Amino acid sequence: MSFLEVKNIVKNFGGLRAVNDISFTVKQGEILGLIGPNGSGKTTIFNLINGFYPLTSGEIYFQGRRIDGLPPHKICALGIGRTFQVVKPLKRMTVLENVMAGAFLHTTSISKARSKALEVLEFCGLYHRKDMDAKNLTIADRKRLEIARALATEPKLLLLDETAAGLNPKETEEAINIILKIREIGITIIIVEHIMKVIMGISDRILAISFGREIALGTPREVANHPEVIKAYLGE
Ligand code: ADP
Repeated sequence: MSFLEVKNIVKNFGGLRAVNDISFTVKQGEILGLIGPNGSGKTTIFNLINGFYPLTSGEIYFQGRRIDGLPPHKICALGIGRTFQVVKPLKRMTVLENVMAGAFLHTTSISKARSKALEVLEFCGLYHRKDMDAKNLTIADRKRLEIARALATEPKLLLLDETAAGLNPKETEEAINIILKIREIGITIIIVEHIMKVIMGISDRILAISFGREIALGTPREVANHPEVIKAYLGE
């Protein structure tokens, strides 16, 4: 049994086939990178895994259980958390309250949600910002908040969308360190990232897609040298 098994998934938006017969598995504990030019279907694959969009066809299994067709909150409660490419914190709340909103998935106790939130804020290096209004955070700290909010839902599998986009080199290095720390505590990760250095450096395996189809799947080295991948990126 695979940790996550994605089987022949297809997603149509009207006449557009955004995801076209994609299959892959994710092993527990690994980091799978998902790459592809803009508009190739990466975010849609995340939206299909976490139940935001229904599949046109195909099947998705998480820890042996079929999850396609379940609503997003059920999929999250089973242990699939995610971050978003465009960070939208609940702006009128503090950083701590934002993260507590994630923690309430597993508890109705305010004190338990608070202590879980403080624990993940510490983990993400954001503890000192806990009482700040989320809207006043820098981009780098918003990205940390987004990760902290997802971690507060206690995921077993975390879908990370463009965590390093818009960051300077030092902030990128810090983002990589957080991702590696998340893996160290046993959380499996699928990461979409445009910055090649980041994804090639941290992924165990990479799935490359173009126009909704798989073009390569393998180690970072295999994928980086794959002619279809080179062609897809040069043509972007
Ligand atoms: P990526 O994340 O690789 O940039 P997306 O998954 O966002 O690509 O988009 C894949 C394709 O699906 C694009 O052509 C995009 O315009 C289209 N698409 C994504 N979401 C929707 C939607 N909700 N309705 C219609 N088309 C969509």
